[in-house]
Amino acid sequence: MKLSKKNLDQRLDHLYDVIIVGGGMGGLSAAIYLQRYCLSCLIIEKGKGRSFWMQELRNYLGLPPETPGRDVIQHGQEHALMLGADHLRGFVEEVRDEGETFTVKVRVGKEDSIYPVFRSKYVIAASGIMDHLPKLEKMQNVFDFAGYNLHVCLICDGYEMADKQCGLFVGTEGAINTAFVLNWFTPYITVFTNGLFEVGDEMRHKLKEHGFPLVETPITQLLGHDHEMTGVELEDGKIIPLETGLVAMGSHYYNEYLKGLDLEWKGSNLVTDSMCRTSHPRLFAIGDLKEGINQVSIAVADGTLAATAIWRDIRRAAPPRRWEEHLVGENPMVETT
Ligand code: FAD
Repeated sequence: MKLSKKNLDQRLDHLYDVIIVGGGMGGLSAAIYLQRYCLSCLIIEKGKGRSFWMQELRNYLGLPPETPGRDVIQHGQEHALMLGADHLRGFVEEVRDEGETFTVKVRVGKEDSIYPVFRSKYVIAASGIMDHLPKLEKMQNVFDFAGYNLHVCLICDGYEMADKQCGLFVGTEGAINTAFVLNWFTPYITVFTNGLFEVGDEMRHKLKEHGFPLVETPITQLLGHDHEMTGVELEDGKIIPLETGLVAMGSHYYNEYLKGLDLEWKGSNLVTDSMCRTSHPRLFAIGDLKEGINQVSIAVADGTLAATAIWRDIRRAAPPRRWEEHLVGENPMVETT
């Protein structure tokens, strides 16, 4: 059922088997598996996550390469609802461990917000990350190109950049090292620091050795039209033509709601076992939020693993179901010899 401010009170007394934080690629995959294991789940999704922003999913088996992430989300959501999952548009603020169960506090509604608390036996953290973008005065101008020919993921889109004039936008000296992986796809790389930091001599030398220009002048705006970036205008008026770009400025991790729990982290990623179980036995982490490769195929598979591990736990702890009428002594039809 689709939940909203109007009807969510119907579920406040319900103990869900699983609450899934994040209805993106991993979360929806987990929901479909959970419902098909005859378990109950609630998906809580704040809206406009990373996969919503993915304009074209180019490397997923069985889908045309121009499939937008928002279409996959819409189908996944309809599929999970059709199987009986609950779905709520809201922002998860806090998850608390109450011993046998979790409580999950959600902010619903941007105005006149309410803060319902839902309960579950298990939680799947599927809230993902969001890429940092260059902060320019004309931010709309960055959003116009991001996800089109201004990419954020080398694994996803290195192929799209092959042998093109590519701008690499970085926020730290360490991120410049991306150039020496990007050059597998294209050697025509110009590195832009946007004047954010000083580049050391060793890195300058390495860039020079590879023939990659370093541009340290702040950027005024990105140039282009119809979602196609064609260059960069610098503060000194100089224009640098480009055919594509890669942003390597790190990411925001949507993990704030987990901070009250004692979990094992590697940087901002949650550490899990091979079934996506974290150091807490009833809390699973899937997709971009956990350690590993940030890809749709991985998030979807993680959803399968987490849902299956939870089903195994619950099934093994439950009393066996028997065909009561056929039990010995209760049904004269049963042969006892
Ligand atoms: P997401 O799909 O991001 O889902 C997480 C969800 O959690 C989001 O919808 C978010 O709104 C929600 N959320 C976050 N915090 C909260 C909260 N507190 N409460 C409630 N909800 C919350 N991958 C590929 O495999 N191929 C590609 O071609 C490709 N191209 C990409 C292009 C772009 C521009 C981008 C940005 C990414 C691309 N990716 C691609 C990567 C892919 O989008 C991610 O790897 C994938 O979406 C990860 O799935 P996930 O479930 O972990 O996270």
